[in-house]
Amino acid sequence: MNYPLDAQVTPRFAGSPTFFRLPQQNNLDGLEVAVTGIPFDSAASFRPGARFGPRAVREMSSLLRPFNRVLDIDPYKILNCADVGDCPVNPFDTLESLDLMAERYHEIARAGVTPLSFGGDHLVALGELRGIARARGPVAVLQVDAHLDTWDSYFGSKYTHGSFMKRAIEEGLVDVAHTLQVGIRGPLFSSQDMADVRALGIEILPMDAIVDWTVDQIAAAIHARVGSAPVFLTFDVDGVDPAFAPGTGTPEIGGFTSQQIIALLHRLRGVNLIGADIVEVSPAYDNAGITALLAARVGYEVLGLLALQRKKGA
Ligand code: MN
Ligand code: MN
Repeated sequence: MNYPLDAQVTPRFAGSPTFFRLPQQNNLDGLEVAVTGIPFDSAASFRPGARFGPRAVREMSSLLRPFNRVLDIDPYKILNCADVGDCPVNPFDTLESLDLMAERYHEIARAGVTPLSFGGDHLVALGELRGIARARGPVAVLQVDAHLDTWDSYFGSKYTHGSFMKRAIEEGLVDVAHTLQVGIRGPLFSSQDMADVRALGIEILPMDAIVDWTVDQIAAAIHARVGSAPVFLTFDVDGVDPAFAPGTGTPEIGGFTSQQIIALLHRLRGVNLIGADIVEVSPAYDNAGITALLAARVGYEVLGLLALQRKKGA
């Protein structure tokens, strides 16, 4: 069983960083969770730099201790996890990169391993969902994001980080009836943007509608929508307010606090999670590494949820 490096032996600032200080593994043998970097940002529409996200998250994840006090679980004692390295990408060829991501995710999903990835811009979720759907059919998507990501195209390109959700639904990768977006806010190009997303059939919890809700109420709405469907969590860090997550490509004010997000994740106990990604960390804009730390923490909470799920099912 893999376990993070012992901080009593190797201090948390020492050594080469891997995700959560886990051992690095070049194959999926014996794993329950494969933690992967996807260093691709060629589909970003504003500030690029998320290609450096996985490295930054690896570094800040060194700070996280193994035991989850709130969930009362040490995920690494339940789930065999490893840092399986970065997915191969071609920074000059988006379509080829999507194929490479889909191939990687297909391999992981087919092996019965749960993927947890750090991007990369949000287009990486399209590659991931292609791989998952190829292995097991469409899955529900829980998208935490300031943005809809349902543009049809941008500058003539169908494959941008603002289009991943539209493409994923068009390609039949998404269980639309159990899919929802949380945290949507900010100005749009036109009223058509909203009409387009409504036509896709997904549920939207925009920030203005939930601003007075408790975290319990938001969690209840998520549970009601996803039910027992297999869910892929795609967590765009810009869903969190730029005061807490400045290191991102397309910041949008008026978002969740980091405290709300962690509390919300704790309340997702019982959601049938089959994988997750945390995307859009752009370290060049990240004061003091707080966005990378947030991304690492979100991933760690996901590991806790997966461990609880496993314990319950075992
Ligand atoms: Mn997004
Ligand atoms: Mn976004």
